[in-house]
Formats: sequence, C-alpha cells, structure tokens
Amino acid sequence: MDKQTIETMVGVLDARMNRQLKEYLDICVRCAICKDACHQYVATQDMKYLPARRAELLREIYRKYFTKTGQFLPDLYEAREPDENMLDELYESTYACTGCRRCTFYCPFSIDTAWITSISKAILIAAGRGNEMLGQLADAEIFKGDNAEMFHDSTIDGFKDIETQVREMTGNPNAEIPVDRQGADILYVALAGAHSILPAAVIFNEAGASWTLSFFESANYGFFFGDPAKAKLIADRFMNEAKRLGVKEVVITECGHAYRVAEMFYEAWAKEKMPFRVRHILEVIDEYIKEGRITVDAAAIAERVTYHDPCQIGRNGGIFEQPRDIVRSIAPDFVDMTPNRDKQWCCGGGGGIVAMEEFNDVRLKSGGKKVEQIRATGASVLACPCENCRLQINELNEVHDLGLRIVPVMELVVEAMPLLGTRSVTQ
Ligand code: SF4
Ligand code: SF4
Repeated sequence: MDKQTIETMVGVLDARMNRQLKEYLDICVRCAICKDACHQYVATQDMKYLPARRAELLREIYRKYFTKTGQFLPDLYEAREPDENMLDELYESTYACTGCRRCTFYCPFSIDTAWITSISKAILIAAGRGNEMLGQLADAEIFKGDNAEMFHDSTIDGFKDIETQVREMTGNPNAEIPVDRQGADILYVALAGAHSILPAAVIFNEAGASWTLSFFESANYGFFFGDPAKAKLIADRFMNEAKRLGVKEVVITECGHAYRVAEMFYEAWAKEKMPFRVRHILEVIDEYIKEGRITVDAAAIAERVTYHDPCQIGRNGGIFEQPRDIVRSIAPDFVDMTPNRDKQWCCGGGGGIVAMEEFNDVRLKSGGKKVEQIRATGASVLACPCENCRLQINELNEVHDLGLRIVPVMELVVEAMPLLGTRSVTQ
C-alpha cells in the first residue's frame, strides 16, 4: 500500500480522535463477552464477526500511529501498518456490522463497537475501499437533491394519486396531502412509495393536523456508506425545506436510520441548532391516540401480535414504549418477544446490509435469533416500524415459513380506525 494512502487513512483517524474514542480503543480487556451478543458471530462463529475483533483492526492502526509503544515495539504491542490484506478483513467485518449496538449493552465497559466500525468505514473510504453500491445510492440521493426541479412534476403526480386514495379511505372529499405548505406545524418526511405516505396521510387528516409532506425521502445511504459529508447533504434536502417552510417539527416516518440521522446526528454535522424539534411518527400517533385526536377500535386486530424493536428506533433511539402502547390499544392479544427493548435481537437487516448482495449469506444466517424469538411468541402478525427490518424479516418469513403478516405500525392503526370511506389501506 502506498505511503500517501496510509497517510490519508491515518489523517482520517486523527480527525475523528477524541477522548471517548481513545478510551474505547484503549480499554478492551478481551473478555469476549460481546461475542454472545452479536447475531452475526452467534450465527457463524466466524472470528471476523466478533465485535472485539472488528474493533481490533482499527486498534492495530491506532497503536501503530498514535502510541509510542506501538510505534517502537509494534510486534510486542500488536501495532500494525495497514496493508491490502488488512483492508480486505476490515472491509468485510466493517460493512457487515449492522450498527445494532447490542454488543455495547453487554460489554462491561460499554465499548461502542458500532461507533468504531463507523470510523473504520471512513478509513476504508479514504483508502478508496468504501462499498460501491452504498456510495452509488448515496450519490443518486444527492443528485436528486441538486436537481429537484427535474423530478418535480412526476413526484407531485404521485402524491395526487395517493391523495385520491386518502379521500376514498376517509370518505372525506376535502382530505389532502399538502406539499410545500408555508407555516404548517409538521413536515412529514416519508420513504419513497405510497406505503409510507398513505397511512400517515389518513392519520394526519383524521387528527386535523397542520402538516405538509416533504418533497424528499428520508432514506440516507450516505449514513450507511459511512460518509458524514454525504449523509449531511442528503439530510439537508428536507432539513432546509423544514427551515424554509417554518415548521414547528419534522416528523420522520417508520424508518430507523433516518430518525437517528435527523434527531441525533444532523445538528452536530450542521454545527447549528435547528429551529424545530424532530420526532418519530410513532411518538406522534401515540400522542394522537392518548389525546383522543384519532379514534381506534380496541379490539380491531384479533390475531396475536408481536412487536419488533428496530435497533435504530429502540436500543439506539430510545423509543420503546410508544409503539407498544399503540399496538396494545388496538390488539388485545399482544405478546412481547424475549428478550426485548434494549436487549432485543437485531433482525440482521440494518446498516445498509440489505443493499449489499455480497453479505446475503451472513445476513440471512444472522436472522436466526430473530426467527427463534418470533416463533416463541406464537404471533401471526408482526408490527415492525422500520423498512430495512421489514425487508429482512419478510425474507426470513419466506425462508423459514413463519406464516407472518409483517405490517408497519401506522398501517395497523389505520386498520383499527373506524373510517367512513370504502377503500382499505392494503387495497
Ligand atoms: S465485551 Fe467489551 S471489553 Fe470484552 S472483548 Fe468485547 S469489547 Fe472488549
Ligand atoms: S453493532 Fe451489532 S452487528 Fe455490529 S458488532 Fe455489535 S452486535 Fe455485531
């Protein structure tokens, strides 16, 4: 590997170095408790998926360039200059990590391996070894942001079609999907596709909310790719829209990583406090039900229902109770998985891994714990508020013949609402 590439990689690590990271890189005692927490290691018993091993690769570079002992006695202190073989291993262990942070909750020192792998991604990108597919998807999102006019008419036509469906469902000829409405209270940021817009639009209309739909989608492949600059440019699209419209809050659809980007990372990237708050759509729906702004039938979902805590919403986002309260309010036979909340098993589909074919094998194997959990509940319906998790669990559903109906939480809510129209949400 040439000297200039190594210097660039070390420069990237240096730019990210702070006390917290240094501590994480220094204090691992190799107890290996984290191995039983990682769904990928449990499924494969492959050392490259052991959380501490994933971090060890970055530690070897750190010791070589940031510690005196590693600099002068590299063999004794396990310090290593990066080479192509090391980058191969770093690539596989890093881009396979779903960022679920389950290992952090089991590590006695709470070492945040997902944070460490996010820095490994930045180093890989600096060496020209970032994942190509995620990079291309991120660039496509940035292109759409830069050329919004090109997509304007077809996007608005799509929204108008969904608006017609909202009117058919609610029986309200005045129900609407506003776009670009100045002074609305809420900017709702959906994913691409009617499934992410229709149920929310029904709920906002029935609640009499002051809202407007974002022209842009919430998905952020720059975040999965591991490039905060690209991730910020993608999130800029709707954050700038929110500022321009003067909304009081940005509400993110049922999507885990998009919620974290907007709520937890964006202000730090932008180095600026936003003039609005950010909430997840399930926080808003829970509030509407509890305040009586929407009516739901308490016995609407007769089947046994369980709930999957997406890692980016639950363990990493802190939203555990609102989705459960919503589901309990419409499904009397609700059964939680074991373990749940911050100990919930990752489904195996996060971190952008569903978009990277090369990891299909480990991805499907690593869903084994989730399959066991779901089976043990005896549920036939899975409420699941994250698109990546739904993609993964849909595949697990087929492979393992689980016979599950996998539904976004807001879609279940709409099923439970006594609407006056003729059309159902799944038509
Ligand atoms: S549990 Fe924590 S301290 Fe133990 S090996 Fe894993 S990362 Fe290191
Ligand atoms: S964050 Fe999740 S996938 Fe990554 S090492 Fe930890 S447990 Fe494994």
